[in-house]
Amino acid sequence: ARKYVVRKYFEGVPKRSDFEIVEYELPPLKNGEVLIKTEWVSVDPYLRFCNRNALVPYDQFSYQVGIVEDSKFPSYPIGTRIVTHNGWCDYSVVDIPKISESYISGNLLVVTYKLPNLKGLSPSLGIGAVGMPGITAYFGFLEICQPKAGETVVVTGAAGAVGSVVGQIAKIKGCKVIGFAGSDDKVKWLEEELGFDKAFNYKTVDIQTVLKAAAPNGVDCYFDNVGGEMSSVIIGQMNKFGRVSVCGSISTYNEDPTKMAKATILQPSIVSKELKIEGFIATRWANRWQEAIAQLIAWIQSGHLKTNEHVTVGFDKLYDAFVGMLAGENKGKAVIKI
Ligand code: NDP
Repeated sequence: ARKYVVRKYFEGVPKRSDFEIVEYELPPLKNGEVLIKTEWVSVDPYLRFCNRNALVPYDQFSYQVGIVEDSKFPSYPIGTRIVTHNGWCDYSVVDIPKISESYISGNLLVVTYKLPNLKGLSPSLGIGAVGMPGITAYFGFLEICQPKAGETVVVTGAAGAVGSVVGQIAKIKGCKVIGFAGSDDKVKWLEEELGFDKAFNYKTVDIQTVLKAAAPNGVDCYFDNVGGEMSSVIIGQMNKFGRVSVCGSISTYNEDPTKMAKATILQPSIVSKELKIEGFIATRWANRWQEAIAQLIAWIQSGHLKTNEHVTVGFDKLYDAFVGMLAGENKGKAVIKI
């Protein structure tokens, strides 16, 4: 089997030489174990972020969808599709009883489960719109923002795996949705296909000016995927009792944390507008993931939730897909077909 091992702490954009592809013999199966052939691998922003706190060297983790090729655990027979956190490898062995529920791996709580019946949809959605990113959008937006019909919602990273789902859920809930993304093509996709009321290319507009025009009555909910300067500007335009769901801060992931600016200018706005700002990790709702998955599948089937995947083909292309995602090459979810 082959796997990627991370050999170094990343400095700035991860380098190819930070990774090594290692070939190794898989052990024979013991009772309770299954052999999984990887089909789809996810590249996600937290792979960059978590490198800071990981102990190198480590096997590159990430969610993946695989198929059971050999089994010593009867309820996972050969042919079962499974979502695991086995990462960047082409084959792996999993002890199902040990990890069939959520479990702590390092400081990361991850969830392993049989891929639900996707009713004809591609299994790759199991690491995208009906997997961890879609579930993140579902709970992170609905539980923390508590959106009400008629409210104005802003989403950053709007054309990404999480953001594109958040914006569409906000539309389903009857909100006005404004998205920010990093290219004109993404903006067009958000407005013309996903039904965002307004979208902007944050690289070419003055955020404060366009947001004032698009949301003259202010912003009620902000789903923050990017952090940094953009978030400070948006938070400055929140309404009283606005809710901010802090999902991620990808604009800072390649930065040196010791050199980052401190967000002191935000605090007066937080006080005067009486904002509620809450961070979260999707696994907070690990025991409710199946509820989100069922709803997301239903929305896709009814046409309320549209998905797009940026597919890269080949185990050898995982590094390229990863840095490509960090650079914004993906519209929708970045996935790798092994
Ligand atoms: P995406 O599919 O959105 O891919 C990352 C995107 O980030 C890129 O496509 C790029 O799009 C954008 N980006 C890159 N650099 C910058 C920058 N400097 N400023 C603004 N945007 C940038 O990834 P995900 O949907 O998987 O993740 C989105 C966010 O959600 C991340 O912050 C991630 O860490 C977080 N997350 C949090 C979880 C949680 O449990 N809290 C779970 C899953 C994700 P563009 O062209 O628009 O720049």
